[in-house]
Amino acid sequence: MKKIAVFTSGGDSPGMNACLRAVVRTAIYHKIEVMGIMHGYDGMIKDEFFKMDEKSVANIIHRGGTILKTARSKEFLTSEGRQKAYDNLKKYNIDGVVVIGGDGSFKGALEFSQKFNIPFIGCPGTIDNDLEGTDVTIGYDTAINTVVEAVDKIRDTAESHDRLFFVEVMGRDAGMIALISGIGVGAENILIPETKTDIDDLVQRLKNKRKTKTSKIIIVAEGDEAGGAFEIAEEVKKRLPDYDTRVTILGHIQRGGNPTAMDRLNSSRMGFSAVENLLKGEKNVMVGIKNKTITLTPFEKAVKQRPQMDKDLLRMMDILSI
Ligand code: ATP
Repeated sequence: MKKIAVFTSGGDSPGMNACLRAVVRTAIYHKIEVMGIMHGYDGMIKDEFFKMDEKSVANIIHRGGTILKTARSKEFLTSEGRQKAYDNLKKYNIDGVVVIGGDGSFKGALEFSQKFNIPFIGCPGTIDNDLEGTDVTIGYDTAINTVVEAVDKIRDTAESHDRLFFVEVMGRDAGMIALISGIGVGAENILIPETKTDIDDLVQRLKNKRKTKTSKIIIVAEGDEAGGAFEIAEEVKKRLPDYDTRVTILGHIQRGGNPTAMDRLNSSRMGFSAVENLLKGEKNVMVGIKNKTITLTPFEKAVKQRPQMDKDLLRMMDILSI
């Protein structure tokens, strides 16, 4: 292997830059040439390749977002699009590719591998922490800390006005951000897509809380099957008209910001291992960290299964917020 390419894809996440830095510098250490591709699969199709060196990734380990930009590519979903991407990889003599992205990005790599024989290796760049084969994804630790910081502020005002707040956090299909940050802020309840939401039960649980409790915070993952925070708050209001209810949607602040120390460490380890494993001949696998150890999981498995939600944590949250 003489030359590799690297790109970021799907939703951005804090730590992608730290991972990119590790990929570029590990490759250079092994005397491998590196090309960056701008704008994910779109840039692969539209020939946005450029040569990178150790200086290209200087002073980015602490920055959120991705200097390579990212995109969602409709064209890569087509076989014509993937053919153009392959032609460009061939044009630059690319022997292997590192993709930093989420499950969609790995599905794309898998689809590509059905026809073309250029090895891909993945680093899980997504704040959702929804991939099988890793305890953490790049950006997840930063995202939960951002949520905790924001909800601590909401708690102050909720407490001063005796209010019930519904705070919506990211997680269209996965409730890990809601669950873990919810425990961190001492939420009164956490609603996630993985469990059924029963509004009557939620109301009963709120009523059962200590009478002296002045503020109440419900964390709602955006993909909860009962609806978003606004819909759920409406339903609860009908049953508890005396409560002073408010809704906050945290939105995109959860994607940004400087990565935490843990995200910088994990992203660096994943980027470093991606290159070393590519050089060992691995392909179509995602690098992950399980029990502090680097693991490799085939793309197929990483995207098919979702990590199991720890039901004991939900039970604990309910008990701790009496
Ligand atoms: P996040 O988890 O943050 O949303 P992601 O990597 O899952 O990130 P997606 O938009 O789902 O983000 O996927 C990124 C890109 O991967 C898509 O825009 C598309 O170009 C490509 N892709 C996704 N699924 C497929 C597929 N089945 N076949 C080919 N390409 C795909």
